[in-house]
Amino acid sequence: MKIWFDGKLVDREDAKVSVFDHGVLYGDGCFEGIRFYDGKIFRLEDHLVRFYNSARYIFLTIPFTMDELAAACCDTVNASGLKDGYIRLVVTRGEGNLGLNPASCPRACVFAIVSEITLYPAEMYEKGLTLITSSVRRNAPAALCPQVKSLNYLNNIMAKQEAVQRGAGEALMLNEQGNVAECTGDNIFIVRDGVVTTPPVTDGALDGITRQAVIDICIELEIPVDERTINRYDVICADECFLTGTAAEVIPVSSLDGHSISDGMAGPITTKILAHYQNMVRATGTVC
Ligand code: PMP
Repeated sequence: MKIWFDGKLVDREDAKVSVFDHGVLYGDGCFEGIRFYDGKIFRLEDHLVRFYNSARYIFLTIPFTMDELAAACCDTVNASGLKDGYIRLVVTRGEGNLGLNPASCPRACVFAIVSEITLYPAEMYEKGLTLITSSVRRNAPAALCPQVKSLNYLNNIMAKQEAVQRGAGEALMLNEQGNVAECTGDNIFIVRDGVVTTPPVTDGALDGITRQAVIDICIELEIPVDERTINRYDVICADECFLTGTAAEVIPVSSLDGHSISDGMAGPITTKILAHYQNMVRATGTVC
């Protein structure tokens, strides 16, 4: 598989990041996870806008234009020979000295990796996955804005490990106030009395591209949808619950901390949104 590395396609063995890169030393950088279906990249522009905004927030200049990176994604997809897959786009601060100050890093390093992806087994899309509430809190906006998709994922990784240790599929992460933010790599939605609700991004959620696609689907299908603060009680007492993310797509949740949701099966509204999403991702996208 070819890697797009700082402007050209190279073999995997030749795609090497320096041990002095601040991305490696300090997690100083940003990334995107993007999917393509039938050779078409889903909401590429939205991903690129988020990528540049994340970089902008951390004062990191990406040494390529958005058009160049769009072409880079397409070139990597074409070189992979895959029709369906995942693109990991990364920018690191680049090579510098051992000090924290990024002024020692003259040029950011950018790369794109394409790979196959299947995150959860097919039956989970019918039966749902189990959630636990993590003891690790989502980044506080005053510490590191959760809307920045930075290379700093350690608290999400800690939460994910907690889920694995407790035999669950995913971990629910709360914010500093104890309200629901999101999961470790997915946004969360609940359904109650026919209304679809997701926490506002200001409650500590990433402004997910799939989250927005689901909001768009609800509007199109005339399913009432709102963004408001929710807590664990709202999730436990929901009629349905599902997660959204580029990798996971739309996946139902069957329980939280042992409390069964929707009789442990995907609910009707979740199923409808999932079906619509599966059509949407193949009907649209940037042709490479
Ligand atoms: N939250 C977090 C913390 C994530 O890492 C992701 C995956 N990028 C998401 C939510 C879902 O975002 P998207 O739908 O853009 O993939």
